[in-house]
Amino acid sequence: MLRCDSLMVSYGPVAALRSVGVSVERGETVALLGANGAGKTTLLRTLSGLTRQSAGSIILDARAIERERTYARVKLGLAHVPERRRIFPGLTVLENLKVGASSWRKPGQSCAQDLERVFTLFPRLSERAGQYGWSLSGGEQQMLAIGRALMSRPKVLLLDEPSLGLSPRMADEVYERIDVLSNAGLSVLVVEQNTALALEVATRAYVLEHGAIVLEGSAADIRDNPRTRQAYLGQ
Ligand code: ATP
Repeated sequence: MLRCDSLMVSYGPVAALRSVGVSVERGETVALLGANGAGKTTLLRTLSGLTRQSAGSIILDARAIERERTYARVKLGLAHVPERRRIFPGLTVLENLKVGASSWRKPGQSCAQDLERVFTLFPRLSERAGQYGWSLSGGEQQMLAIGRALMSRPKVLLLDEPSLGLSPRMADEVYERIDVLSNAGLSVLVVEQNTALALEVATRAYVLEHGAIVLEGSAADIRDNPRTRQAYLGQ
């Protein structure tokens, strides 16, 4: 569904991605693991077009998208939930969600069914539809950010640290919802510092170090790998 090959990104003299290749199949949840500064956020930003690669290809649903602008990639089915959520604090929950539908919605066209789907997935958002973004808890903001991304009718969802700053219970709840989405056929690429949590939900995982993929495999293989156990699972 989504794959990139030989991606290179530099920030001036800093090489942030060195020939990176990852793929996510339909209905798969793939975790992207690595220490601070490994290049995880840069990879998601490059896939969604917020950062430009100096070389490499990105294919979404058999179509080359590496030259497309971010907005065009959203239209083609790639949605990105950035780190720290970035919901609109001065808009209500409902207004935030409607903004997410702007990639496909024409004037006068209804997005009621899409809203219904998001509210079924996140009943808390339905209860808080008229509440301002700023007044939501961290977990609710994360749900809203994911819900807003879903309003664009994505095929692939890129999630940057969805558990950041959440209580363990709330993080579990968010990941349960991610699991429901991937079971329904959505492809998910998730960056996560909480390695144990990500490996519970993911089918496969990649480990990035200093901008390069150093390990890839099934979630079980990555969990059992001595290098991962020591460096990322504290075992
Ligand atoms: P974290 O988990 O801390 O968010 P990360 O794995 O997501 O880390 P990136 O944020 O992608 O890593 O950063 C990769 C490298 O690129 C780091 O060395 C970082 O300092 C550098 N970098 C990131 N953004 C920029 C930028 N806008 N300008 C210069 N260097 C940057």
